[in-house]
Amino acid sequence: MHRALSMAALALGVSVASAAALADEVNIYSYRQEFLIEPFLETFTKETGIKVNVVFAKQGVLERLKAEGEQSPADIVLTVDVARLDALVEADLLQPVTSPVLERNVPPQYRHPDGLWFGLTTRARIIYASKQRVKPGEISSYEELADPKWKGRVCMRSAKHEYNQALLASMIAAHGEKKAFEWVKGLKENLARKPQGNDRGQVKAIKEGLCDVALGNSYYYGAMKFNDENPEQKEWAEAVYLIFPNQNDRGTHVNISGIAMTKSSRNQDDAIKLMEFLSKETAQRMYASANYEYPVNPSVEPDPEVASWGKFKADTLPLQKVADLTPRAVRMYNEAGLD
Ligand code: FE
Repeated sequence: MHRALSMAALALGVSVASAAALADEVNIYSYRQEFLIEPFLETFTKETGIKVNVVFAKQGVLERLKAEGEQSPADIVLTVDVARLDALVEADLLQPVTSPVLERNVPPQYRHPDGLWFGLTTRARIIYASKQRVKPGEISSYEELADPKWKGRVCMRSAKHEYNQALLASMIAAHGEKKAFEWVKGLKENLARKPQGNDRGQVKAIKEGLCDVALGNSYYYGAMKFNDENPEQKEWAEAVYLIFPNQNDRGTHVNISGIAMTKSSRNQDDAIKLMEFLSKETAQRMYASANYEYPVNPSVEPDPEVASWGKFKADTLPLQKVADLTPRAVRMYNEAGLD
């Protein structure tokens, strides 16, 4: 059985850690929500007898790890987006993991070259298009979002968000800085409104007729379509269809949710067992399905709902390259004044 560490337990980080070193235990700091990871952690504990303790955080994991230093009880960090994983690398808070299982199950473009982080699920950054106002085939690439044809018809969230920064980083890799900058300027010209809100908010704007196409992550489609808590989101989803861009060239830009081992980890063996478990079929299916994402392991099929959105080719650009180019993407959005 595992339990969530309370904030009080965290304040006693040292005693938690020394207890952890004695027992078969793994301590996780997670940006990912409880409902996503509880099911597979339970399965892991049942299979291995290794207890898992989780601290759920909305933000501040990097700062906390820094502050705790070598005394940190954390063994594992679970998070989304290569930018956040890269920030942990840059802060020297991770240790490399060598594992033939992980190397077999996680394609090279979705893991750090030295094993400092590994992707577990992938998510595509797609184009949401109005069923009413966009004909199938009318737009099929990110590049076309800058075409004058779409003037006043494009919605997106802020360029300050990692999702959009990673997408531009992938465009810089594909086209070089000059062309990528032209694209940003063209995109800006086409915006229906100042970038705002979250990805779902753009789909809502399509439903409301404010724009015709929008950038958003793929899993939000499932999250809206089956949202019993906020049934109005079902109507947003009903108003759009999904376009997986760039199928005729480099493929759709994808990012990951991932896992990394902290430098301070005292339970390395158990932590590696958990990392490997998460790359295998059972956990891959559970983890990816829970949030309408894609299993990173290519031998595991996505959930039937996600599969029904269609097969697509993903950009094979290593995500480490995306992370390396992200500072340039940030500068470029600023220079163009996209927001
Ligand atoms: Fe998201």
